[in-house]
Amino acid sequence: MLPKVDLHTHTIASGHAFGTVNENVMEAAAKGLEVIGISDHGPAVPGAPNIVYFSCLGFLPRTLHGVTVLRGVEANIFHDGSIDLDERQLERLDYVMAGLHGEAGYAGATANDHTRAIIAAMGNPRIRIITHPGNPRFPAHLEELARAAADTGTALELNNSSLTCARPGSSPRCHELARLCARFGAPVAIGSDAHIPQAVGVLDAALEMALEAGLSWEQIVTRDRDAIFDFLRITP
Ligand SMILES: [Zn+2]
Ligand SMILES: [Zn+2]
Repeated sequence: MLPKVDLHTHTIASGHAFGTVNENVMEAAAKGLEVIGISDHGPAVPGAPNIVYFSCLGFLPRTLHGVTVLRGVEANIFHDGSIDLDERQLERLDYVMAGLHGEAGYAGATANDHTRAIIAAMGNPRIRIITHPGNPRFPAHLEELARAAADTGTALELNNSSLTCARPGSSPRCHELARLCARFGAPVAIGSDAHIPQAVGVLDAALEMALEAGLSWEQIVTRDRDAIFDFLRITP
C-alpha cells in the first residue's frame, strides 16, 4: 500500500524543474493518487516564481483528471525561522511547507543554527510540513526536531528524492529521524519532491524506510485524502 497523496511536486515555475502543472497532475492520475499538491519553491531560490505567482494559484482547478489539486509552496526558512512569503500570500494557499535551501538567503552555519531555525519555523502555525529535515548539508539535531514536531503537530518529511537522486548521504540521517518520529509520535509526511512529472507519486523508498523505522501508517499524514484534509484542516 502506497500513500495516496503527494504534496511535494515542482513545476517549470520553480525555474529548475521540467514539467507543467497539467503534466504533473496527469502523472498523479496515472499513478492512482487521490491528491496532488503543487509546491513550487518560494521566491528566495534563484529562478523561482515571484510573489504574484503564489497569489494566482487560485486559477488552478480544484479537480483535474480526477485528482484533487492543492495549492502550496515550498518556502525557504531563514536564520531566524521566518520564511520568504508573507501572510498575504500564505493565507491564499492550502498548505505551506518550508525547508532549508542553499543559495536562498539562509545564513546559518552550525547544527545549532539549523536546529533553531527549523524549530522556530515550526512555531509558525501556517507551516505544516518541514521538507527534507534529514539533509546532511544542514545537519540539525534530529532528536530536537522530532520532539518539536510532536509538540507542535508539524510534520517532518521523508523525502523520496533524498533517498534516490538528491542530497547525497541523506539515508542514515533520514532513517534516524524516522526512528525518532516513531518514538516521539511526531507526524510524518512522505513526499516525492518530483522535479519531473515521471517522479510524481514515486514514494516507495521513503515509505519502506518509514515502516522499517517503526512508524505507524496512522502517523503518515499523506496516507490518503481524508488524512491530509484533516491534518491541513481543509473542509472537503
Ligand atoms: Zn527543497
Ligand atoms: Zn522540493
